[in-house]
Amino acid sequence: MLQEFLRSEIDLLRKDGNYRTFANLERSNGNFPKATYRCDSGKREVTVWCSNDYLGMGQHPATRNAMKEAIDLCGAGAGGTRNISGTCNYHVELERELADLHGKPAALIFTSGYVSNWTALSTLASRLPNCHVFSDADNHASMIEGIRHSRAPKHIWKHNDPESLDRCLSSVDPDATKLVAFESVYSMDGDIAPIAEICDVADKHNAITYLDEVHAVGLYGPRGGGVAEQEGLMDRITIIQGTLGKAFGVMGGYLSSSEEVCDFVRSFASGFIFTTALPPMLAAGAIASIKHLKTCEFERHQQRRNVRLLRAKLDAIGIPYMRNDSHIVPVMVGNAKKCKMLSDLLLDDYGIYIQPINYPTVPVGTERLRITPSPLHSVEDMDRLVSALGALWSQCALARAVA
Ligand SMILES: *Cc1c(COP(=O)(O)O)cnc(C)c1O
Repeated sequence: MLQEFLRSEIDLLRKDGNYRTFANLERSNGNFPKATYRCDSGKREVTVWCSNDYLGMGQHPATRNAMKEAIDLCGAGAGGTRNISGTCNYHVELERELADLHGKPAALIFTSGYVSNWTALSTLASRLPNCHVFSDADNHASMIEGIRHSRAPKHIWKHNDPESLDRCLSSVDPDATKLVAFESVYSMDGDIAPIAEICDVADKHNAITYLDEVHAVGLYGPRGGGVAEQEGLMDRITIIQGTLGKAFGVMGGYLSSSEEVCDFVRSFASGFIFTTALPPMLAAGAIASIKHLKTCEFERHQQRRNVRLLRAKLDAIGIPYMRNDSHIVPVMVGNAKKCKMLSDLLLDDYGIYIQPINYPTVPVGTERLRITPSPLHSVEDMDRLVSALGALWSQCALARAVA
């Protein structure tokens, strides 16, 4: 009975084309963005164009050496929750590093960005008196689930629209606690929130601001503090949330805020208290990566150069992509079957890996290949990608952009 039920549910996913398969990709150290792809017919080298290790920091010698040193010094795991013998100096130092990155008095680390969003929002929204949450329509699943778990009343405002937020905020009891949750860089369209205007609206209604900078930390601002740093707005955000798993190349999540907010979440959040602390080596790797990106602009500059270069090459042959001010290049296909087919052909015929992005991750009709150029993609890598896309665009009878 059980197996039958599970199989029939999975079959429904398959029928809708929403069944997920994972490509077996072994990233090759020192060789980013190359990886070894393994499938039934053997293994071969591919170039990855959709990694969230945006700057290749997961392979940077500073990150790797710090991790090796820490594992030799402390061993593999943390050995406990933060409260029960699991805290070491790397955790303390990492929280200091993150607080400094965002110009806040304190920070609190979690096992992932997902856990930090889920835990912080569910704890705050359920425990703050008469709390109403105001959530951008395109917020990430980790925020949505955290808010849902809090059972606080939720108001969804139109994506990146401060006027819609204003109307939502005006509709509730002025004495309620109001929490505005949004992101800086939205990962699928690569568009960036009007943070200053959202803060103006939040201030007008005396609301708390909660900003997910997961796709921006390490990448924006002179020290990699995110879009809020770049725009000089960090002090206007009550709580900045980020990940150590994307541009910093390691794993883990965090909040950066006041002593009181961090102490409160630390003291009341189940998802912080009852779980084993981050392994010391991960904390050490994150510290090294953050420190490097605070002082070195090289990776950020090269990445931006490559993003510009790739867009120019796509423009030259009329491959349509979504325009935005970020580092994300969504090449628009607009058809689920063709999107999957393009991805398969890129892999099989050209040794290029780009995961197809279909519904429900993006709306039907906006299926795309989400390309994330890194500082380590070469001009030759780019030329091979663009010529492959050009050939496949013709083969799949897809429309070109008009110049
Ligand atoms: C990836 C992601 C997260 C979760 O971060 P992890 O460290 O991968 O768990 C949170 N928010 C957004 C917007 C994300 O894209």
